[in-house]
Amino acid sequence: MSTNGKPARRDTTRNDAQPRFRARLRSTLVAAFVLLSVLPIALAMFVAVERTSAQAEQQVVNQLDSIAETKEQAIRADLADSHSILEGVIADPVSYSDVVTLLTMSAPDESLRGTVATRFEAMLAVQEAFSEFFLYDPEGTIFVSTEPVQVDKVVRQKPYYAPSLQGVQIQTPFYELQSETLTMVASRPVFDETGQLVGVLAGRLSPGAFAEIMTQRVGLGETGETYLVSLENNYLVTPSRFEGYPLLRAYHSAGIDNALAGLDGTASYVNYRDQPVIGAYRWLPDVQLGLVAEMEQAEAFRAVRQSTQTSILVAALAAFIAANIGLFVALRITRPIAELTTVTRQLSEGNLAARTQVRLRNEIGELGSTFNTMAAQLQTTLRKLEESVKEARTATAMAREANRVKSEFLATMSHELRTPLNAIIGFAEILLAGMAGELSEQHKHKITRIHLNSKRLLDLINDLLDLAKIEAGRVEVLRDPFSPIQLAATLEAEMESLAEQKGLAFNISVDSSLPPTLIGDTARLEQATSNLLSNAFKFTHRGRVELRLSANGDRSWSVVVSDTGIGIPPHALEYIFDEFRQVDTGSQRAYGGSGLGLAITRNLARVMGGEVHVSSTLGEGSTFTITLPLIVPEDVAVEMAYESL
Ligand code: ADP
Repeated sequence: MSTNGKPARRDTTRNDAQPRFRARLRSTLVAAFVLLSVLPIALAMFVAVERTSAQAEQQVVNQLDSIAETKEQAIRADLADSHSILEGVIADPVSYSDVVTLLTMSAPDESLRGTVATRFEAMLAVQEAFSEFFLYDPEGTIFVSTEPVQVDKVVRQKPYYAPSLQGVQIQTPFYELQSETLTMVASRPVFDETGQLVGVLAGRLSPGAFAEIMTQRVGLGETGETYLVSLENNYLVTPSRFEGYPLLRAYHSAGIDNALAGLDGTASYVNYRDQPVIGAYRWLPDVQLGLVAEMEQAEAFRAVRQSTQTSILVAALAAFIAANIGLFVALRITRPIAELTTVTRQLSEGNLAARTQVRLRNEIGELGSTFNTMAAQLQTTLRKLEESVKEARTATAMAREANRVKSEFLATMSHELRTPLNAIIGFAEILLAGMAGELSEQHKHKITRIHLNSKRLLDLINDLLDLAKIEAGRVEVLRDPFSPIQLAATLEAEMESLAEQKGLAFNISVDSSLPPTLIGDTARLEQATSNLLSNAFKFTHRGRVELRLSANGDRSWSVVVSDTGIGIPPHALEYIFDEFRQVDTGSQRAYGGSGLGLAITRNLARVMGGEVHVSSTLGEGSTFTITLPLIVPEDVAVEMAYESL
């Protein structure tokens, strides 16, 4: 592990999850920036465009409405003009009397007819509103006309005939078959001096009567137009501004149909040329015509459209700039975080020298620097920990070795001590048996003491040897079948005399639930149990000692030794299993013993895969329990079968 404290090189190849994380954070930030900057712009633009187009439409509507108004006024004025022209034809008294005379003659005088006709022609020449003047009697027979072919024709069937007898009027346009045109006729009745109707003076209005008014395009732009439509057949009365739309054809549109239905108003609709338009329409009751003023929406909204395009361009530019700023800021924020993430991962993978570069003087910078401090502390702590672990390992190994050497030494020493001790015991027995000659009582007594003490010493050495062997791991545990009942019998035989000596009851029981044959090391079991039984007898003065072998439910079995002896104080329960530890350690020791028995029993239980527990009440007695795994011959058979596989 490197500890040079250099900043770690960025590793971008090792883990591909990291760039994905960074990209997500960055794109979220960029998206937020762009959204925050573009949304208000777009909203403002949308509102502005909406308002501008509404205003533009209103403006066009107003304009069209006022144009329609102007045209209507002009038509009214035109009509008034036509009436006064017609009036002028017979205004002077001579003309008037000539006309009355002509109309009241039983047979028209040709020269008078010629005079009147000449006057009519002269009047026709000085005006433009009419294309023909003609005069007919109340029966409808034409007496005089500026069109000679009309003379003597009868107009009784014409739509204007009947109303013309009533008073001054203008006949709404009607389709005249013979001229194949829409015709408008203005007329006034003629009365004689007595007020008797003698005929009607009529004028055929020029076909282009209102065309001039309607085709004037002031204020109508490139596509705007005004036109009149007749109630009859929906014919155009004034020409379309555009090619290919003859007068005598039926035209329909919302504007035309509304005007002809007698409505006044404005609307957006598709016009007779199939163009979306804004239109103002009105009904002219005087002439029974519909007046329509229209402008194509494309033209009406052109300015708006242009300003919308400009707005979109500006908004797009603003969005682009905002996105770039967003990207820049996002990078500034995410790069150190991404670096920190990389370094954190390196650290978690064991590179404790990994550090991040602190560039920013803000919270992110502080985060980086705090992280570096933390990493440095972690590194130091881990180093110390590793050193401690190493030291502890060495110490443990040394302790183990020391213990092993100690056990080795003890085992060897015990063995070396036993040989001379056995010799001492042997010679003492020879002496006591009198094989070396008769001994005095005093000698016998002394040699008996030598013999006893040597035996105690031998016991002690044997215990030590056992313990040392077990600790040195030199004890082999057998796995042989044995009978628990047999084991109990052996222990009973061994302890029987002791029980008798001390006058104690010795109860032995073997649970019927225990299998008749178990697998284990009887010698070791016997040794461990007899240690417990010896103690029980040693520390019990009245009552009984009990040995019980029982099966537990969890594939284990127990050897339980209980007594009604002196008991063990609670604090001593912790250490009585340690070597050379006894409850009673004073100089006035009442009980003999080395303090090794329980240590041997515990170690034996362990090497057999079990453990020893004690429970005791001072003055009432103690119970020691060795718990061992319950192994039956079938288990061994199965194991062997496995091994042979
Ligand atoms: P010792 O040779 O002294 O018996 P052990 O290791 O067998 O050594 O026992 C340690 C100590 O535990 C004993 O000295 C005694 O104080 C206590 N002890 C063991 N068994 C009993 C018992 N059944 N009743 C009371 N005290 C006991």
